Amino acid sequence: MSNIKSKKKKLLSGSFSVLLGLTLLVSSSSVSATVNTFGKWSNRTQTMYAVTTASQTHWSNGAAKWKNSTNYNISVASGLNSTYYSQDVNKSDVDWDGLCTFTVNNGIISKAILNLNTYYTSQSKYTSSIIAGVTGHEIGHSLGLEHTSVVETSSIMHPYTFNSNGTIERALNPSASDKTVVNNLYPLSKLAANRVDLGLSSEDISIHLEPSWAVYYEDEAALMKAADLVIRGRVAEKIGNKAAKGNYSNYNTLVNIQVSDVIKGTKMVGENIAMSQMGGTDGKVEVYSDSSTHLKEKQEVLLFLRQSSDGTFRPINEDDSIFLLEDGGYHNIADQQLINEKKILSNL
Ligand SMILES: [Zn+2]
Repeated sequence: MSNIKSKKKKLLSGSFSVLLGLTLLVSSSSVSATVNTFGKWSNRTQTMYAVTTASQTHWSNGAAKWKNSTNYNISVASGLNSTYYSQDVNKSDVDWDGLCTFTVNNGIISKAILNLNTYYTSQSKYTSSIIAGVTGHEIGHSLGLEHTSVVETSSIMHPYTFNSNGTIERALNPSASDKTVVNNLYPLSKLAANRVDLGLSSEDISIHLEPSWAVYYEDEAALMKAADLVIRGRVAEKIGNKAAKGNYSNYNTLVNIQVSDVIKGTKMVGENIAMSQMGGTDGKVEVYSDSSTHLKEKQEVLLFLRQSSDGTFRPINEDDSIFLLEDGGYHNIADQQLINEKKILSNL
């Protein structure tokens, strides 16, 4: 699994070429590309199946946001289906309120499973319109969209539902540019559709995880408050993978971290902790979390962690909470931002 980061970069470069190709096709208006994609369904008309009547309402509300405003013609039906379906899960040991697991083969999506985490969505702050924002976000993933950057709160593909003050963080409807990207992926004209070269590398089937994070922790002070354990340490060794075969949303990779400094929490210096990162393998199928960069042995890290019920720790919102020691400072593994230690220490 050491190739996660390079794989991620490869997919990203593929997605940029998709957008470049589309720009050439759309002559009159420029494509404002706030979201990227690394796949699409072969047909713009799709039916997604909801397992329960209660969740069908939530998913129908989310689907309508796209169906009513783009060429992506998605309907939600009740019943069982093996290629495009939603399900309710109740997981307290994760930081996501929604998660899309999908299968991509040469740029074509062949399967999508959309999870709504009722551990979060049953909380009173999740009104039905906010839940529809979560389901709309996950349907956006399921049709092929990735996240926007953190600063773009006008997009429904913003990664976070709430901020740490409990106010809504994500736009509840697709932005104009979200719609443009979707319409370029799913043109009404078949001729245009045939001319879209996805520009993706030919790869084996891969499984991707795309979450909706329940809460955005806007800085180190907010992460500090939310964490059970904040440590500096060294990646001692990979332990392996936790995977129940076929249940891709549960695929995790475990590493041992040797604690060198405890900033918050009750661990001892020198002690080892097991940290779980999303994504992993069962030996045959590789599952990639687009929010997770798996750590390597000997890396020096600063981590904001929550403890799960099995005793392992997880980085809050995955890469958001992992800082690597580089050039004398701890830099976020995702955006390279240098940590502000004053903001941590002021919360002690
Ligand atoms: Zn997401």
